[in-house]
Order: sequence, then structure tokens, then C-alpha cells
Amino acid sequence: MSLGMSLDPPERLLMGPGPSNPDPLVTEALAKPIVGHLDPYFLELMDDTMELLRRLFETRNPHTIPMSGTGSSAIETMILNLVEPGDRWVVGVIGYFGERLVEMARRAGAAVTVLDVPPGEVISPDDMRRAVSRTRAVGIAMVHAETSTGACQPLDGIARIAREHDALIIADCVTSLGGMEVNVDGWGLDAAASCSQKCVGAPPGMGPVTLGERAMAAIARRRQKPATWYFDLNLVFEYWADGSRQRAFHHTAPISSIYGFHEALRLIDREGLEARFKRHRAAHEHLVERLAGLGMELFTPARHRLPMLNVVRIPDGVDDVRVRAALLRQGIEIGGGFGPLKGKVWRIGLMGVNADLERVDLLVDALEEHLKAARR
Ligand code: PLP
Repeated sequence: MSLGMSLDPPERLLMGPGPSNPDPLVTEALAKPIVGHLDPYFLELMDDTMELLRRLFETRNPHTIPMSGTGSSAIETMILNLVEPGDRWVVGVIGYFGERLVEMARRAGAAVTVLDVPPGEVISPDDMRRAVSRTRAVGIAMVHAETSTGACQPLDGIARIAREHDALIIADCVTSLGGMEVNVDGWGLDAAASCSQKCVGAPPGMGPVTLGERAMAAIARRRQKPATWYFDLNLVFEYWADGSRQRAFHHTAPISSIYGFHEALRLIDREGLEARFKRHRAAHEHLVERLAGLGMELFTPARHRLPMLNVVRIPDGVDDVRVRAALLRQGIEIGGGFGPLKGKVWRIGLMGVNADLERVDLLVDALEEHLKAARR
């Protein structure tokens, strides 16, 4: 690499755990003229972004915005605003990203009880009920789509338990949003957070988040300000307040990123949620079938597999790194496993425009060739 290298990144087919490839219209949106963050045009675009995001999260929550930062910023926004030092929370851990929720909640001062299951499994409502009753927790945090194991954690039953116990429920929907149902109001989630770069189909950099009435009431009741200025929602909502109110400067919004994010949301709206989820499901089923043809199977039990993130067992005797490197030389990225699954699985993402039968074929055909070579 030379100092001052010219920018010429390779074209990749991104079929790992994210980022995915944005639609070309999203990429075009990124290069549109910059306006000021309080320009009337931009304020109108903010309103539209919020409304499109509400549709995607299936909520009427007024407090639904993209945070300036990746998915982790949206998750940390929920936690830093809703957890007060000393609060008792139960965190459901079904994989690596659940452990991150534990770490974030502890850093925010929560007394955390961890409820975990072996990789690939999910948490049952009964186990959660016992944990919440026993600890008298004021909140539950869970990952909806666990990117490390490919498992989907059903949230509706857990949300009912939260309500029964007058506890909040917040969810990391980073991998699920845009590729499967995330029904915030229907399930009764108090807050949900996601990212821009997976099934939503924009570049990394935005952290969509939504908070309902019970979450906003908890913020209003706080005994002390959250230990963050940048993610303090009372301040951030001064800027993202709905368009009927005067908007106040908080930070300089990442204008181009919001253009791209808005365009991705517009495309989702145009496609329709049902059609989009069906497309992701069809791509997943096609992948599973094609892999079975190569004698390969998924790690995650079929009853709670995610459509957009497929955790595939690496066949015996095949070198994980060698195959992934060969695919990348051909321009195709897939992900490796991590934690206890490192070297044992690949993670294949079918997200956004990549939830497509032809792209699945392209990947599996390439994989077949490299597997033959790896066994020779
Ligand atoms: N949570 C889950 C389930 C994820 O898969 C990821 C990233 O892959 C994150 C959180 C972190 O999101 P980001 O990398 O956008 O900060």
C-alpha cells in the first residue's frame, strides 16, 4: 500500500454477516449535494425518514429515529437512557451479541442477571418468567436475531412477561430489521434498535431506534441524567423533534448517510414488507436446498433459523480460512464463525438485495468448486 493511495475499492458480493451490498440507488443517494442540517429541505427529509422507519418497525412511536452511529450506537442509546445505576435487569443471552448486551448494561450500572442457553438454542418464556419473578427485574434485554448462531429469538411471549411484571423489554434487532417481521407495537416491545448495513441495505453508519410510551415514561422518571451526552435522548429529540416543533442543534447530522438511509427505507416501502420478507425467506430456503445438494447442513435447528443469516457447518477436513480466502479472491465475501463456533461454521448472509436466488446460486456454485479443490 502506498501513502496517498487513490481510492479504488474492489467490487465485492457481500454475503457475510454484514455489511450487505446497497442497491445502486442508495449508492447514488450518497453522492447528492450536501445541505445544512437545519436546512428546510433536510428537516422535511428527517420527517419522512422517521415515518418510513415507523413503518419498518411496525410502530406508531413518535420517538423513532436513526442515531448517528452504527447499530451499537442504537443499542447503547436504549441502554444508557433506560438503565439507571443499581437497576435490576435480566439479559437473555443466546450468543455473542447477547453477551455484548450484558457488558453494555453492566457498564451503565445495572445489576444484571444472565439467562443463557447453548449456542443455537433460544430462551423459553417460562425460563424468562422465572428469572424476572425471582430477581424482580425492572427490565429485560434480548437479541432478536443472533448473528453468531443464526437463531431467531421469539419476542412476543417474552414481551408479555415483561408487561405482567411491569418491566421494560428492549431488543437488539440489528440483523432482523428489513429482512423479517419486527413488529414493535404488535409484540409490545418498549424499545428496539437496529443498523443500516444489513437487511435495510444502506452503508454502515446509522443506528435506527424506536422507543414507546413506557420507555419514554421511564426516561422521564430518571433520578439522574444518563452518563452520556451524545446519546442522551432528551437532547437528541430536541433535534429530531417532529417537524411541527422548532428543531434545535444537537450535533451535525451525517447528511449523506441519512440520504442513503432514507433511500434504502424508500425502496423497502416501495417493495412492501410482506414481499420483502418473503424474498428473504425464499432465498434462505433455496440456499438450504442447494447446500444440502453438496452434503452440507446448517448448524442452527430448523425450528428457529433466521432467513437472512445462515450458519453452515464446515465439512470435515475442509480448511475454513483457505476456502473463504479463495472466495474473496473471486470477489465473494462470507463470514467465519466466532467464539465456540470459530473454524467450525461459515456465516452466509442473504440480506437486502443479496436475498436473491441467482446470487445464492453464484455463491453455492463458487463454494462447490472451492470445496472440491480443498479436498483434492
Ligand atoms: N448486534 C448484532 C446482533 C449484530 O449482528 C451486530 C453486528 O454485526 C451488532 C449488534 C453491532 O452492530 P454494528 O456493527 O452496526 O455496531
